[in-house]
Amino acid sequence: MKHTKLLLSAIALFALAPIASAQKPNEISNSFIRGRHRQEIVIPQIQGYNVYKADLHTHTIYSDGGVTPSWRVREAWFDGLDIIAITDHIEYRRVEREMLEYMGDYIKEEYRNLPKGVNTNLQGNAADKRGILANLNVGYDKAVESNEQYGLLVVRGVEITRNEGHFNAIFTKDNNKIYHPDIETSVRNAVKQGAFVFHNHPKHDKTTASGLTPLSEGMHQKGLLKGIELCNGPVMWSRLISYCLDNGYTPISTSDGHTTMAERFYPHYNNGTYRNMTLILAKQCDEKSIKEALFAGRTIAYHNNKLIGKAEYLEELFKASVSIEHMCDNKKETMVILTNKSSIPYQLKFGKRTAVVEGMGAVQITLPKGSDSVDFVITNLITGNGKRAKASLSFNRKPTNKYLQENPTWYPY
Ligand SMILES: [Zn+2]
Ligand SMILES: [Zn+2]
Repeated sequence: MKHTKLLLSAIALFALAPIASAQKPNEISNSFIRGRHRQEIVIPQIQGYNVYKADLHTHTIYSDGGVTPSWRVREAWFDGLDIIAITDHIEYRRVEREMLEYMGDYIKEEYRNLPKGVNTNLQGNAADKRGILANLNVGYDKAVESNEQYGLLVVRGVEITRNEGHFNAIFTKDNNKIYHPDIETSVRNAVKQGAFVFHNHPKHDKTTASGLTPLSEGMHQKGLLKGIELCNGPVMWSRLISYCLDNGYTPISTSDGHTTMAERFYPHYNNGTYRNMTLILAKQCDEKSIKEALFAGRTIAYHNNKLIGKAEYLEELFKASVSIEHMCDNKKETMVILTNKSSIPYQLKFGKRTAVVEGMGAVQITLPKGSDSVDFVITNLITGNGKRAKASLSFNRKPTNKYLQENPTWYPY
């Protein structure tokens, strides 16, 4: 009996030995890290600039969001972004009230049991003399801590939130020094810190030429607001596209996520589109280069597989992404293949025909016989109100191949 036990133990040890030596404990943890995967969104360079993917407007539990800053960073990394801004509301901090209850005896006697907290909703009224007691930099600090293992560019910011309008200031230096009862002074406080300020989910106003409220139109004209959110979550402000581009404002697309992105962008998220992104054309992914690009207006707003931006950027993006190759001619037509090496799908109109070349995909299209070029209107690349990017692609014609002429769909691409 004893011998049998020993023998079984020896067999067990022998059987386990190769596994144990092949996988050391630290390798197991490394492979676990390697096992986490990120969705990569491939976009070619435009005008010699790299194209970085950013969400410049998100919320966390440090205002009225449902997730932690750490979650925001992790989710952005998973979603393929390079840059994430944490822009909690200064004036509206729902969770602060909940935290006061939770903190109980930890907090000063005078602030305990305050059902509404201290100045936690200042959207329609000014703070009383106690001011804002919370440290508005904590959300950003927590995001930076979590980012150590992800390596994104995390941007400090705030949303200035009043009944008259909402404005995002990013690349702020100290979020505790921005609030002022007067909205324009608050924006100026952010500008003084070198922040890039943009106009969130613009309100419509019939009395102005731009369709913006007089207050926000005035702040644009004074140079305080440099960008406009043309897309916020599921909404796109189509009527403001030309106003934004023609007046030199930077087009922005953000999630304004308060909950998870899967919820925010459902069902698009599951149908081959990405969360809203501002594509930033910059030399490097650091604060200096990204800020410079934003002030220079070098962005493209991405929303549900639509891209909004200057024609020069969108047309170059298309040409850098899509190549064309002559396949053969049959009796009536010339057949070509379009190959897309970007992750962005392009919706094409050429003559009376339409086609889609999917992200990282290819499509075969037919042209009038003898063609050696094709003019496209790319209907998902928006360059103004009712305007779309255009591009002409030409190709070298190949000598006639009788087999392909008779079997064109068998062409082995
Ligand atoms: Zn807002
Ligand atoms: Zn917001």
